[in-house]
Amino acid sequence: MKIICIGRNYAEHARELNNEVPEKPVFFMKPDSALIRNNKPFFLPPFSKEIHYETELVLKISRLGKHIEEKFAYRYYDEIGIGIDFTARDLQRECKAGGLPWEIAKAFDGSAPVGEFISKKELPDPVLFHLDINGRTVQKGTTADLLFSFDRIIAYVSQFVTLRTGDLIFTGTPAGVGPVKKNDRLQAYIGSRLLLDFLVK
Ligand code: MG
Repeated sequence: MKIICIGRNYAEHARELNNEVPEKPVFFMKPDSALIRNNKPFFLPPFSKEIHYETELVLKISRLGKHIEEKFAYRYYDEIGIGIDFTARDLQRECKAGGLPWEIAKAFDGSAPVGEFISKKELPDPVLFHLDINGRTVQKGTTADLLFSFDRIIAYVSQFVTLRTGDLIFTGTPAGVGPVKKNDRLQAYIGSRLLLDFLVK
């Protein structure tokens, strides 16, 4: 399986990182070794002094597809979850300054904790989500603020990359990203449902 991540999909977040609001989706990938399941802890990596959380809704691809038309894209995912796109912000700044790829800042082991998935049929429109750290809400989002809808993302990405059953798409983070530190407890919710709950070690 592969993990595809959309960048700059909420205008306020693009602005907080001084990025332009894009005209088409931006995506990058993480390897399967980035995945953390079952609320296992995230270990701070030694190569960064500034690991940021980015809370994102995650689509689970449910069938094989390539060149998917936007109007049929809804058929390619049944479940939605929530995950953290951990980012070594210090390394990312260096990559951006050098015009280099982002992998060392984004694709490292453990950089993609993902919680339980729920059927998209159970979700309201728009979908609200948030992250609490140590019991305090630090980031909130709503799909009403997406620049590119889930269907548009699937159509766009599948022009370049075949989507396979079990692939995950992180759909971008709203404004409010920030650092994590040792012993933080991260709890991510869709609506009022706690779907991801883990410790930073
Ligand atoms: Mg992100």
